[in-house]
Amino acid sequence: MKTFDASSAYHFMESLVKDVGNRESGTDSEFQAAEKIRKWFEEFGLENVKAEEFKVQTSRILHEDASLPDGSRLDCAAVGNSLSTPPEGIEGEVVALESTSPEALRKIENKIAVLTMYSLNMKDFHKVLSAKPLALVYPTRTPLAPKSYRSIRAEYVEKQSIPAVSVAHDDVLNLLKGPRRLKIVTEVERITAKSQNIIGEVPGSLGDEDILVGGHYDTVRSVMGAHDNAAGTAVVLELARIFAHEKMNRTLRLVAFGSEELGLRGSFYHAKNTENTKNLKLCLDYDVQGILLGNLDAVVLGPEELKSLLSFTAKELGIPLQITNEMGLGGSDHMPLAFYGVPSVMLSRGGGAAHIMHTDLEDLRWCGPDAFATVGKLSQEFLKRLLKAEELAFEKKIPEAIAKAVEKRFEDSGVKKE
Ligand SMILES: [Zn+2]
Repeated sequence: MKTFDASSAYHFMESLVKDVGNRESGTDSEFQAAEKIRKWFEEFGLENVKAEEFKVQTSRILHEDASLPDGSRLDCAAVGNSLSTPPEGIEGEVVALESTSPEALRKIENKIAVLTMYSLNMKDFHKVLSAKPLALVYPTRTPLAPKSYRSIRAEYVEKQSIPAVSVAHDDVLNLLKGPRRLKIVTEVERITAKSQNIIGEVPGSLGDEDILVGGHYDTVRSVMGAHDNAAGTAVVLELARIFAHEKMNRTLRLVAFGSEELGLRGSFYHAKNTENTKNLKLCLDYDVQGILLGNLDAVVLGPEELKSLLSFTAKELGIPLQITNEMGLGGSDHMPLAFYGVPSVMLSRGGGAAHIMHTDLEDLRWCGPDAFATVGKLSQEFLKRLLKAEELAFEKKIPEAIAKAVEKRFEDSGVKKE
Protein backbone atom coordinates (compact mmCIF):
# COMPACT_ATOMS: atom_id res chain seq x y z
CA MET A 1 0.00 0.00 0.00
CA LYS A 2 1.01 3.66 -0.24
CA THR A 3 3.08 5.09 2.62
CA PHE A 4 2.12 8.11 4.73
CA ASP A 5 4.18 10.96 3.34
CA ALA A 6 4.95 13.70 5.88
CA SER A 7 5.69 16.23 3.12
CA SER A 8 2.39 15.51 1.45
CA ALA A 9 0.60 16.06 4.77
CA TYR A 10 2.48 19.31 5.27
CA HIS A 11 1.44 20.39 1.79
CA PHE A 12 -2.27 19.92 2.66
CA MET A 13 -1.79 21.98 5.79
CA GLU A 14 0.08 24.71 3.96
CA SER A 15 -2.57 24.86 1.28
CA LEU A 16 -5.40 25.25 3.83
CA VAL A 17 -3.48 28.01 5.62
CA LYS A 18 -2.14 29.88 2.57
CA ASP A 19 -4.94 29.42 0.04
CA VAL A 20 -7.90 29.79 2.42
CA GLY A 21 -6.42 31.23 5.59
CA ASN A 22 -8.85 31.94 8.37
CA ARG A 23 -11.72 29.44 8.39
CA GLU A 24 -14.01 30.83 11.07
CA SER A 25 -16.91 28.51 11.93
CA GLY A 26 -20.07 29.32 10.02
CA THR A 27 -18.51 31.75 7.49
CA ASP A 28 -17.88 31.73 3.73
CA SER A 29 -14.20 30.99 4.34
CA GLU A 30 -15.12 27.87 6.32
CA PHE A 31 -17.29 26.90 3.36
CA GLN A 32 -14.36 27.48 0.96
CA ALA A 33 -12.15 25.18 3.00
CA ALA A 34 -14.93 22.56 3.02
CA GLU A 35 -15.13 22.71 -0.78
CA LYS A 36 -11.38 22.26 -1.05
CA ILE A 37 -11.48 19.20 1.22
CA ARG A 38 -14.41 17.75 -0.71
CA LYS A 39 -12.43 18.08 -3.96
CA TRP A 40 -9.40 16.37 -2.41
CA PHE A 41 -11.58 13.49 -1.16
CA GLU A 42 -12.97 13.09 -4.68
CA GLU A 43 -9.51 13.28 -6.26
CA PHE A 44 -8.22 10.52 -4.00
CA GLY A 45 -11.11 8.31 -5.13
CA LEU A 46 -13.07 8.13 -1.87
CA GLU A 47 -16.66 6.94 -2.24
CA ASN A 48 -19.92 8.53 -1.05
CA VAL A 49 -18.30 11.93 -0.70
CA LYS A 50 -20.83 14.34 0.74
CA ALA A 51 -21.42 17.36 2.94
CA GLU A 52 -23.40 17.02 6.15
CA GLU A 53 -24.95 20.42 6.78
CA PHE A 54 -26.07 21.85 10.12
CA LYS A 55 -26.83 25.19 11.74
CA VAL A 56 -24.79 26.99 14.39
CA GLN A 57 -25.53 29.85 16.77
CA THR A 58 -22.70 32.29 16.42
CA SER A 59 -21.97 36.00 16.13
CA ARG A 60 -20.19 38.59 14.05
CA ILE A 61 -18.04 41.22 15.72
CA LEU A 62 -18.81 44.63 14.24
CA HIS A 63 -16.82 46.75 16.66
CA GLU A 64 -14.32 46.20 19.47
CA ASP A 65 -12.39 48.76 21.39
CA ALA A 66 -10.81 49.02 24.83
CA SER A 67 -9.08 52.04 26.32
CA LEU A 68 -7.40 53.17 29.53
CA PRO A 69 -8.30 56.32 31.53
CA ASP A 70 -5.45 58.24 29.80
CA GLY A 71 -7.10 57.53 26.47
CA SER A 72 -4.52 54.99 25.27
CA ARG A 73 -5.95 51.96 23.52
CA LEU A 74 -5.61 48.38 24.62
CA ASP A 75 -5.53 45.61 22.04
CA CYS A 76 -8.70 43.56 22.57
CA ALA A 77 -11.05 41.12 20.87
CA ALA A 78 -14.77 41.14 21.58
CA VAL A 79 -15.85 37.69 22.76
CA GLY A 80 -18.22 35.77 20.48
CA ASN A 81 -21.84 35.59 21.72
CA SER A 82 -21.20 38.43 24.17
CA LEU A 83 -23.53 41.42 24.37
CA SER A 84 -22.93 44.76 22.65
CA THR A 85 -22.15 47.65 24.98
CA PRO A 86 -24.20 50.85 24.64
CA PRO A 87 -22.73 52.94 21.77
CA GLU A 88 -20.91 55.20 24.23
CA GLY A 89 -19.33 52.12 25.87
CA ILE A 90 -18.99 50.89 29.43
CA GLU A 91 -16.43 52.24 31.85
CA GLY A 92 -15.61 50.84 35.24
CA GLU A 93 -13.21 49.59 37.85
CA VAL A 94 -11.43 46.35 37.02
CA VAL A 95 -11.51 43.54 39.61
CA ALA A 96 -9.96 40.05 39.30
CA LEU A 97 -12.34 37.15 39.93
CA GLU A 98 -10.57 33.99 41.03
CA SER A 99 -13.51 31.85 42.05
CA THR A 100 -17.27 31.81 42.13
CA SER A 101 -17.49 31.83 45.92
CA PRO A 102 -20.20 34.20 47.24
CA GLU A 103 -17.53 36.44 48.74
CA ALA A 104 -15.58 36.73 45.50
CA LEU A 105 -18.78 37.37 43.56
CA ARG A 106 -19.90 40.19 45.87
CA LYS A 107 -16.82 42.16 44.82
CA ILE A 108 -17.67 42.34 41.12
CA GLU A 109 -21.08 44.04 41.25
CA ASN A 110 -20.99 47.06 38.92
CA LYS A 111 -17.33 46.34 38.17
CA ILE A 112 -15.53 44.93 35.17
CA ALA A 113 -14.56 41.40 36.20
CA VAL A 114 -11.34 39.75 35.00
CA LEU A 115 -11.91 35.99 34.83
CA THR A 116 -8.76 34.26 35.98
CA MET A 117 -10.31 30.77 35.77
CA TYR A 118 -9.41 28.93 32.56
CA SER A 119 -12.97 28.03 31.71
CA LEU A 120 -16.30 28.35 33.44
CA ASN A 121 -19.00 25.70 33.32
CA MET A 122 -22.54 26.88 32.67
CA LYS A 123 -23.58 26.99 36.34
CA ASP A 124 -20.57 29.08 37.31
CA PHE A 125 -21.00 31.36 34.33
CA HIS A 126 -24.59 32.03 35.42
CA LYS A 127 -23.39 32.68 38.98
CA VAL A 128 -21.02 35.31 37.59
CA LEU A 129 -23.87 36.92 35.61
CA SER A 130 -26.13 37.05 38.67
CA ALA A 131 -23.43 38.96 40.54
CA LYS A 132 -24.15 41.77 38.04
CA PRO A 133 -20.73 42.79 36.76
CA LEU A 134 -20.69 45.50 34.08
CA ALA A 135 -18.61 43.42 31.70
CA LEU A 136 -16.11 40.55 31.60
CA VAL A 137 -12.45 40.50 30.61
CA TYR A 138 -10.86 37.20 29.53
CA PRO A 139 -7.05 37.31 29.77
CA THR A 140 -4.97 35.04 27.54
CA ARG A 141 -3.82 32.13 29.67
CA THR A 142 -0.14 32.28 28.70
CA PRO A 143 2.19 35.18 29.53
CA LEU A 144 3.67 36.94 26.48
CA ALA A 145 0.91 35.62 24.19
CA PRO A 146 -1.33 38.15 22.46
CA LYS A 147 -5.10 38.35 22.95
CA SER A 148 -6.99 35.20 22.02
CA TYR A 149 -10.19 34.92 20.04
CA ARG A 150 -12.94 33.10 21.87
CA SER A 151 -16.69 32.65 22.18
CA ILE A 152 -19.07 32.04 25.01
CA ARG A 153 -20.98 28.78 24.38
CA ALA A 154 -24.37 29.57 22.86
CA GLU A 155 -26.11 27.50 25.57
CA TYR A 156 -24.71 29.75 28.30
CA VAL A 157 -26.25 32.90 26.88
CA GLU A 158 -29.63 31.67 25.69
CA LYS A 159 -31.46 33.92 28.15
CA GLN A 160 -28.94 36.60 28.97
CA SER A 161 -25.50 37.68 27.83
CA ILE A 162 -22.95 40.28 28.88
CA PRO A 163 -20.34 42.51 27.20
CA ALA A 164 -16.97 40.74 27.16
CA VAL A 165 -13.54 41.23 25.66
CA SER A 166 -10.41 39.15 25.52
CA VAL A 167 -7.12 40.90 26.32
CA ALA A 168 -3.47 39.72 26.33
CA HIS A 169 -2.27 38.25 29.62
CA ASP A 170 0.42 40.92 30.11
CA ASP A 171 -1.96 43.79 29.36
CA VAL A 172 -4.37 42.48 31.99
CA LEU A 173 -1.49 42.24 34.48
CA ASN A 174 -0.55 45.87 33.81
CA LEU A 175 -4.16 46.87 34.15
CA LEU A 176 -4.40 45.21 37.57
CA LYS A 177 -1.09 46.71 38.71
CA GLY A 178 -1.88 50.12 37.25
CA PRO A 179 -4.99 52.11 36.46
CA ARG A 180 -7.53 49.38 37.39
CA ARG A 181 -10.03 51.13 35.13
CA LEU A 182 -11.11 50.24 31.62
CA LYS A 183 -13.53 51.46 29.02
CA ILE A 184 -14.85 49.07 26.42
CA VAL A 185 -17.02 49.60 23.36
CA THR A 186 -18.27 46.57 21.43
CA GLU A 187 -20.89 45.73 18.88
CA VAL A 188 -21.75 42.07 18.52
CA GLU A 189 -24.43 40.67 16.24
CA ARG A 190 -25.80 37.24 17.13
CA ILE A 191 -26.63 35.14 14.08
CA THR A 192 -27.56 31.64 12.96
CA ALA A 193 -25.16 30.35 10.30
CA LYS A 194 -24.61 27.23 8.23
CA SER A 195 -21.69 24.91 8.72
CA GLN A 196 -20.82 21.46 7.40
CA ASN A 197 -18.88 18.23 7.87
CA ILE A 198 -17.24 16.79 4.77
CA ILE A 199 -17.43 13.00 4.63
CA GLY A 200 -15.90 10.35 2.38
CA GLU A 201 -15.55 6.57 2.61
CA VAL A 202 -13.42 3.61 1.66
CA PRO A 203 -16.00 0.79 1.83
CA GLY A 204 -14.96 -2.45 3.53
CA SER A 205 -16.19 -5.96 2.79
CA LEU A 206 -17.98 -6.48 6.13
CA GLY A 207 -20.44 -3.67 5.52
CA ASP A 208 -21.49 -3.25 9.14
CA GLU A 209 -18.27 -2.24 10.86
CA ASP A 210 -16.94 1.27 10.39
CA ILE A 211 -13.95 3.21 11.71
CA LEU A 212 -14.05 7.01 11.66
CA VAL A 213 -10.96 9.16 11.18
CA GLY A 214 -11.63 12.85 11.64
CA GLY A 215 -10.38 16.29 12.54
CA HIS A 216 -11.84 19.80 12.47
CA TYR A 217 -10.95 22.20 9.68
CA ASP A 218 -12.55 25.37 11.10
CA THR A 219 -10.77 28.01 13.17
CA VAL A 220 -11.70 30.75 15.58
CA ARG A 221 -12.07 34.26 14.19
CA SER A 222 -9.06 35.97 12.54
CA VAL A 223 -6.42 33.28 13.06
CA MET A 224 -4.74 31.10 10.40
CA GLY A 225 -5.26 27.96 12.47
CA ALA A 226 -2.12 26.19 11.32
CA HIS A 227 -1.55 23.63 14.07
CA ASP A 228 -5.15 23.99 15.32
CA ASN A 229 -6.23 22.44 13.09
CA ALA A 230 -5.20 22.65 9.46
CA ALA A 231 -2.58 20.16 10.62
CA GLY A 232 -5.08 17.62 12.00
CA THR A 233 -7.14 17.97 8.84
CA ALA A 234 -3.94 17.39 6.85
CA VAL A 235 -3.37 14.08 8.69
CA VAL A 236 -6.93 13.04 7.82
CA LEU A 237 -6.36 14.02 4.17
CA GLU A 238 -3.07 12.13 3.90
CA LEU A 239 -4.66 9.04 5.48
CA ALA A 240 -7.53 9.36 2.99
CA ARG A 241 -5.01 9.51 0.15
CA ILE A 242 -3.07 6.40 1.18
CA PHE A 243 -6.07 4.24 2.17
CA ALA A 244 -8.38 5.26 -0.70
CA HIS A 245 -7.89 2.12 -2.80
CA GLU A 246 -7.13 -0.44 -0.09
CA LYS A 247 -9.12 -3.69 0.19
CA MET A 248 -10.21 -3.92 3.80
CA ASN A 249 -12.69 -5.69 6.05
CA ARG A 250 -13.95 -2.54 7.72
CA THR A 251 -15.20 0.69 6.17
CA LEU A 252 -12.99 3.70 6.73
CA ARG A 253 -15.03 6.89 7.10
CA LEU A 254 -13.09 10.13 6.80
CA VAL A 255 -14.67 13.23 8.28
CA ALA A 256 -13.51 16.84 8.23
CA PHE A 257 -15.58 18.38 11.04
CA GLY A 258 -16.95 21.92 10.88
CA SER A 259 -17.52 24.34 13.76
CA GLU A 260 -15.50 22.53 16.39
CA GLU A 261 -14.45 25.91 17.73
CA LEU A 262 -18.06 26.85 18.54
CA GLY A 263 -18.35 23.91 20.93
CA LEU A 264 -17.79 20.67 18.97
CA ARG A 265 -20.84 21.38 16.79
CA GLY A 266 -19.94 19.31 13.72
CA SER A 267 -18.92 16.19 15.59
CA PHE A 268 -21.95 16.49 17.90
CA TYR A 269 -24.26 16.72 14.90
CA HIS A 270 -22.58 13.68 13.35
CA ALA A 271 -22.59 11.64 16.58
CA LYS A 272 -26.23 12.24 17.54
CA ASN A 273 -27.43 10.62 14.29
CA THR A 274 -27.81 6.88 15.00
CA GLU A 275 -27.41 6.13 11.29
CA ASN A 276 -23.85 7.42 11.67
CA THR A 277 -23.01 5.61 14.90
CA LYS A 278 -24.80 2.26 14.64
CA ASN A 279 -21.92 0.53 12.80
CA LEU A 280 -19.19 2.73 14.19
CA LYS A 281 -16.60 0.84 16.27
CA LEU A 282 -14.00 3.56 16.77
CA CYS A 283 -13.32 7.26 16.24
CA LEU A 284 -9.78 8.56 15.77
CA ASP A 285 -9.65 12.35 16.10
CA TYR A 286 -6.69 14.55 15.19
CA ASP A 287 -6.62 17.93 16.90
CA VAL A 288 -3.48 20.07 17.13
CA GLN A 289 -0.72 18.56 15.00
CA GLY A 290 2.21 19.75 12.92
CA ILE A 291 4.18 21.43 15.73
CA LEU A 292 7.91 20.89 15.12
CA LEU A 293 9.04 21.23 18.72
CA GLY A 294 6.45 18.89 20.11
CA ASN A 295 5.53 15.35 21.04
CA LEU A 296 2.65 13.01 20.45
CA ASP A 297 0.02 12.21 23.02
CA ALA A 298 -3.25 10.34 23.02
CA VAL A 299 -6.46 10.51 25.02
CA VAL A 300 -8.37 7.23 24.97
CA LEU A 301 -12.07 7.33 25.81
CA GLY A 302 -12.65 3.63 25.40
CA PRO A 303 -11.82 0.14 26.69
CA GLU A 304 -8.44 -0.85 28.14
CA GLU A 305 -7.85 -3.21 25.19
CA LEU A 306 -8.01 -0.27 22.79
CA LYS A 307 -5.52 1.65 24.90
CA SER A 308 -3.19 -1.38 24.98
CA LEU A 309 -3.44 -1.87 21.21
CA LEU A 310 -2.45 1.73 20.62
CA SER A 311 0.33 1.56 23.17
CA PHE A 312 1.75 -1.73 21.73
CA THR A 313 1.64 -0.38 18.17
CA ALA A 314 3.55 2.76 19.20
CA LYS A 315 6.09 0.67 21.11
CA GLU A 316 6.66 -1.73 18.23
CA LEU A 317 7.30 1.19 15.91
CA GLY A 318 9.61 2.91 18.38
CA ILE A 319 7.33 5.92 18.66
CA PRO A 320 7.15 7.64 22.04
CA LEU A 321 3.50 8.17 22.92
CA GLN A 322 1.93 9.42 26.13
CA ILE A 323 -1.48 7.84 26.64
CA THR A 324 -4.12 8.83 29.16
CA ASN A 325 -7.84 8.44 29.83
CA GLU A 326 -8.11 12.01 31.13
CA MET A 327 -9.82 14.53 28.89
CA GLY A 328 -7.86 17.53 30.14
CA LEU A 329 -9.28 21.04 30.13
CA GLY A 330 -9.90 21.48 26.42
CA GLY A 331 -12.34 19.62 24.26
CA SER A 332 -12.28 18.04 20.85
CA ASP A 333 -14.37 16.06 18.39
CA HIS A 334 -13.67 12.68 19.96
CA MET A 335 -15.84 13.68 22.95
CA PRO A 336 -19.28 13.78 21.27
CA LEU A 337 -18.54 10.40 19.69
CA ALA A 338 -17.68 8.94 23.10
CA PHE A 339 -20.78 10.65 24.56
CA TYR A 340 -22.84 8.60 22.09
CA GLY A 341 -21.05 5.34 22.94
CA VAL A 342 -18.30 5.13 20.32
CA PRO A 343 -14.82 4.32 21.70
CA SER A 344 -12.73 7.33 20.75
CA VAL A 345 -9.11 8.39 20.65
CA MET A 346 -7.71 11.88 20.24
CA LEU A 347 -4.16 12.17 18.91
CA SER A 348 -2.51 15.55 19.58
CA ARG A 349 0.93 16.97 19.24
CA GLY A 350 1.60 19.05 22.32
CA GLY A 351 4.44 21.49 22.72
CA GLY A 352 5.11 25.09 23.61
CA ALA A 353 3.41 26.43 20.50
CA ALA A 354 0.17 24.65 21.41
CA HIS A 355 -0.38 27.39 23.98
CA ILE A 356 -0.54 30.22 21.47
CA MET A 357 -3.49 28.64 19.65
CA HIS A 358 -6.44 30.94 18.99
CA THR A 359 -4.11 33.95 18.81
CA ASP A 360 -2.66 35.94 15.89
CA LEU A 361 0.62 34.04 16.34
CA GLU A 362 -0.91 30.73 15.31
CA ASP A 363 0.53 30.45 11.81
CA LEU A 364 2.95 28.16 9.97
CA ARG A 365 6.09 29.38 11.76
CA TRP A 366 5.88 26.67 14.45
CA CYS A 367 5.26 23.87 11.99
CA GLY A 368 7.18 21.69 9.56
CA PRO A 369 6.92 18.46 7.55
CA ASP A 370 8.99 16.50 10.09
CA ALA A 371 6.26 17.01 12.68
CA PHE A 372 3.99 14.70 10.66
CA ALA A 373 6.38 11.75 10.54
CA THR A 374 5.55 10.01 13.82
CA VAL A 375 1.80 10.61 13.76
CA GLY A 376 1.74 9.36 10.16
CA LYS A 377 3.70 6.20 10.81
CA LEU A 378 1.68 5.35 13.92
CA SER A 379 -1.70 6.12 12.33
CA GLN A 380 -1.04 4.14 9.17
CA GLU A 381 0.02 1.02 11.07
CA PHE A 382 -2.68 1.28 13.75
CA LEU A 383 -5.43 1.82 11.21
CA LYS A 384 -4.19 -0.86 8.83
CA ARG A 385 -4.32 -3.44 11.64
CA LEU A 386 -7.80 -2.39 12.75
CA LEU A 387 -9.28 -2.07 9.27
CA LYS A 388 -7.90 -5.41 8.05
CA ALA A 389 -8.26 -7.46 11.27
CA GLU A 390 -10.46 -10.59 11.17
CA GLU A 391 -12.01 -9.42 14.42
CA LEU A 392 -11.52 -6.29 16.48
CA ALA A 393 -9.73 -6.99 19.74
CA PHE A 394 -11.86 -4.51 21.72
CA GLU A 395 -15.56 -4.12 22.39
CA LYS A 396 -17.70 -1.15 21.52
CA LYS A 397 -17.98 -0.09 25.12
CA ILE A 398 -16.91 2.93 27.13
CA PRO A 399 -15.77 2.05 30.68
CA GLU A 400 -18.20 3.47 33.25
CA ALA A 401 -15.82 5.94 34.86
CA ILE A 402 -14.90 7.43 31.48
CA ALA A 403 -18.52 7.52 30.28
CA LYS A 404 -19.47 9.36 33.49
CA ALA A 405 -16.68 11.90 33.08
CA VAL A 406 -17.74 12.58 29.49
CA GLU A 407 -21.39 12.94 30.50
CA LYS A 408 -20.49 15.32 33.28
CA ARG A 409 -18.45 17.44 30.87
CA PHE A 410 -21.43 17.85 28.54
CA GLU A 411 -23.88 18.37 31.39
CA ASP A 412 -21.61 21.15 32.74
CA SER A 413 -21.76 22.81 29.32
CA GLY A 414 -25.55 22.71 29.24
CA VAL A 415 -25.69 19.97 26.59
CA LYS A 416 -28.22 17.13 26.79
CA LYS A 417 -28.30 13.90 24.83
CA GLU A 418 -30.73 14.30 21.94
ZN1 LIG B 1 -8.77 22.39 17.55
